[in-house]
Amino acid sequence: MAKSTILTGLRTNADYHLGNYLGAILPMVQMARKHSSDYQINMFIPDLHSFTTPIDFDTFYEQSIRNLKVFFAAGLPLDNENVRVYRQSHVTAHSEMTVILNNFTSFGQLSRMVEFKEKRERIDEEFVSVGLFDYPVLMASDILLYDAEYVPVGDDQRQHLELARDIAERFNNRFGETFVVPKTIKQQAEFFGIEEPLRIMSLQNPDKKMSKSIDDPNGTIMLFDEPSVARKKVMSAVTDSVGSVNFDRVNQPGITNLLILLAVLCGKSQEEVNKEFTGMSQYGELKNAVADQVELLLEGVQKTFAELDDVRIMEKLGQDELYANEYSQKTLLKVQKAIGLRK
Ligand code: AMP
Repeated sequence: MAKSTILTGLRTNADYHLGNYLGAILPMVQMARKHSSDYQINMFIPDLHSFTTPIDFDTFYEQSIRNLKVFFAAGLPLDNENVRVYRQSHVTAHSEMTVILNNFTSFGQLSRMVEFKEKRERIDEEFVSVGLFDYPVLMASDILLYDAEYVPVGDDQRQHLELARDIAERFNNRFGETFVVPKTIKQQAEFFGIEEPLRIMSLQNPDKKMSKSIDDPNGTIMLFDEPSVARKKVMSAVTDSVGSVNFDRVNQPGITNLLILLAVLCGKSQEEVNKEFTGMSQYGELKNAVADQVELLLEGVQKTFAELDDVRIMEKLGQDELYANEYSQKTLLKVQKAIGLRK
């Protein structure tokens, strides 16, 4: 019997920051390593999704490859056939399937997507694209084309996963078993373990998530920052005037963010790190400890990144895109036959 598929993707518009790396990339790579002997792991770059928010078109192609390489720098195996990497835009079935599935998705249901409503409000310009509105259908295609059963998603994407399930069920009810319906959110949570997702906050505005934002360069550590620059950002992190280290998200968000960072970076439990630092009156020691770890991490990742075998990576990408095209074309053909587009 064919293996079940776990599918995951990460949008790629600019260089990654430390929050992306610790909160998304490392967990994805660890998941792939953990499950690749029993599951087919599809890690794709949703590059067609990228246009739903502003991007730099001139650098976009190279940026996608650069970001893909970060996965290998983070430890994704290059020589494991059960782990496939591909670019959504290089597998034409994603787009074709979306055009078809648009007709099995109701306007009302798409209008109720919270992510759309929120993003729409954040875009101050008049121009809200159909691409932004329709991207949950593209996401359904990403999933359904590969018979994916498990799709690890954050809170913001749960509703979209439900939509993919709805579309698959609607289609199957009308045309017979065509799609593998992804597992329910509950089953997914049981499979992946229900852990609270990691949230690294800005070093300058610890009430806000660290993000790639032009107005907060000192609050955000970029993966390719000079390690010494990153050190300075940590040392000048905003703290408080309490005068004692406590893990307290509400009253000491800056200090708490540093404690969280330290635990993740050292691979220690939060309790262990808290025990070590709680009650200390000097914040410098905690900052120094975090800065050391950040420097170490960036040096390590940047060195590994520089040493990656680009030729081998592009070779793998080519092979895996061939695989993805073959696999997805089979699903597309089933659908085309079901609805009368092919004999
Ligand atoms: P974004 O850069 O907002 O498109 O986020 C891509 C993914 O990176 C998200 O789905 C999150 O899982 C993760 N991520 C982004 N920012 C953070 C952060 N500050 N802390 C932890 N994870 C993050």
